[in-house]
Amino acid sequence: MKTLKSVDVVIVGGGWTGLLMAKELATRTSLEILALERGPSRKPSDYIDGMDEVDYGIHNKMMQSPAVLTVTHRFSGRETAVPIRQYGSFKPGTGTGGAGEHGGGNADRYLPEFFTLRSHLLEKHGKLPEDSLVADWGFNWDDIENDLWRAEQLMGISGKAGNIRGKIIEGGNVYEGWRSHEFPTPPPKKNWAGVMFFKAATELGLKPYPQPSANISTDYTNPDGISRPGCAYCGYCSGYACMIGARPQPTNVLMPILRRHSNFKIRNGAAVRRVVHKDGRAIGVTYVDEQGEEIMQPASIVILSAWTTHNVRLLLLSKIGEPYDPATNKGLVGKNLTHQVITSAKAMIMLDEPINSFMNNSGLGFRISDYDGSFGIRPSDGILRGGCFSGGSQSAALPIGSFGRIPPGATPRNWGSKWKTESARLFDHVIGGCGFRGDHLPWRQNHMDLDPTYTDIFGDPLLRMTLDWTDHEQKQFDFAERVAMQLTESLARVSGGKLHKQGGPSRQPQLASPAPRRYNASSYNTTHIQGGAIMGSSPGASVLNPWMQHWQIPNLWMLGSCGFPENSSGNPTTTILGVTYRAADALIEKYLKHPAALA
Ligand SMILES: Cc1cc2nc3c(=O)[nH]c(=O)nc-3n(C[C@H](O)[C@H](O)[C@H](O)COP(=O)(O)OP(=O)(O)OC[C@H]3O[C@@H](n4cnc5c(N)ncnc54)[C@H](O)[C@@H]3O)c2cc1C
Ligand code: SF4
Repeated sequence: MKTLKSVDVVIVGGGWTGLLMAKELATRTSLEILALERGPSRKPSDYIDGMDEVDYGIHNKMMQSPAVLTVTHRFSGRETAVPIRQYGSFKPGTGTGGAGEHGGGNADRYLPEFFTLRSHLLEKHGKLPEDSLVADWGFNWDDIENDLWRAEQLMGISGKAGNIRGKIIEGGNVYEGWRSHEFPTPPPKKNWAGVMFFKAATELGLKPYPQPSANISTDYTNPDGISRPGCAYCGYCSGYACMIGARPQPTNVLMPILRRHSNFKIRNGAAVRRVVHKDGRAIGVTYVDEQGEEIMQPASIVILSAWTTHNVRLLLLSKIGEPYDPATNKGLVGKNLTHQVITSAKAMIMLDEPINSFMNNSGLGFRISDYDGSFGIRPSDGILRGGCFSGGSQSAALPIGSFGRIPPGATPRNWGSKWKTESARLFDHVIGGCGFRGDHLPWRQNHMDLDPTYTDIFGDPLLRMTLDWTDHEQKQFDFAERVAMQLTESLARVSGGKLHKQGGPSRQPQLASPAPRRYNASSYNTTHIQGGAIMGSSPGASVLNPWMQHWQIPNLWMLGSCGFPENSSGNPTTTILGVTYRAADALIEKYLKHPAALA
């Protein structure tokens, strides 16, 4: 194996977290930094005229191909897992910028108690269910608020504050934790369906507010001096790179700065296989380059920022830490696997008039938090945490994906000239059922480990996910679908549309599944898989300390939501970037001065 010259810092993964850490290190220190990214090089000019629905929306051109690398899934430890061979419940990114190049731009903050959830739930309920692995993160809201604000400024998030330093502001999210500042940019434009959802929710006595969005409403220059234009509402948004750069992507907000610093380099086509460690220190990583040659890259500091499943797999492959065993509840690597709890009303609304829903972005619309966290939950609902509802307009009606949404009964389904004519006439006359995104709590049986059967092209075991919805999530689904239906009925009334309940218009892809629901690995949920290398304040209960430094190997740091002990109703990237700023400060201001364990 070829061994290269040592660098100060090697970063595994060139996505949001890896490149943000690189930017902080490159601009604030003279360290020599190398990012290893397995995917191709990317730059904003690649996107100017390249986005189309077949390549990107349907064939997922920007995502990691499951033919190259996938995971296996099983519902429980009693079963044999099988590989996910098509794009399924999540879609990992690849290439410079990672999944940050084509995210949806929903830019939520978590509720303040989320960072101390175990303490919060114990205080509220006195005890937790036996199988619950809910944990505190090792810091609280006051510790992280400024870092969330830094993340919001980096991206230029558009929104309306509901709580500035304790002052409640109607029109914003009145349930949110205190924030130090108004959003960097105002909320995006409202479309007709969004206005209808706002009215429908208000009529039910709820408090809708504009979805905080990274798809910015107006021209904006961030504190690093990077300028971006406001969104053009082109609709080719989540799953696509932004053609004009209105969405913050690592290639348009981080790479322009990194390129100006000669102490940073990125090497594409470098698939890292192992963290090499000896006597409690990481000494570098091994990777396979584009020519298939295996290379050792020595480094003084190793940072894993390859996204949840890859970070956890690298720990397991490198034999760092004890793998988690749900039977004994021993070991830490792989525990607290969570996804999000997603469903929607089993209904659609058909309108007489077209609504121009192709003018859209994937962060548009309104959201309500009246049932988020512990708000609005009745004892009879039988759940510890709820979630947020949204509606009106969350994704664009693109020509292929939205074709075939027609009322039932009128024509044969999915074939024939009458079906085609009706589909073409009605594609823009539909509002989908209101959606729900809920907290997913960690349970003892849900975890990640190495698959005993299936391997990747290098012969390394695939990551195995053991994941299913528990009784708690079944009740969350029941609760959410009841409220989502009330909202959708109200939406039908205010919009003057005709409500079609389940069995309604054909080609509705997101209809909720019948109870009991199983975790569906083959249908898209979100790309918000979390856990597996959680942070916390005790080395006996967590892999990372509250600064994302490995407890036992102090020159190994990990970034991203692998460190999050539970999964929130809020989308994660704002928090992921806030936690990365926190880790960067700790590394630069504390670790570099005293290279040892920080806690
Ligand atoms: C379709 C889609 C929509 C989304 N919408 C939203 C949203 O609306 N709001 C939100 O908050 N979040 C959203 N997300 C999630 C968001 O993109 C992620 O939270 C964010 O990108 C995570 O950053 P990361 O650095 O941890 O991982 P990534 O950005 O994915 O970067 C990880 C990088 O590591 C590289 N890598 C992996 N393994 C290796 C290896 N062995 N060697 C070298 N390199 C490796 C990968 O190729 C990748 O480039 C969405 C994601 C997707 C896919
Ligand atoms: S809708 Fe806006 S943010 Fe999304 S891709 Fe189009 S211009 Fe960019």
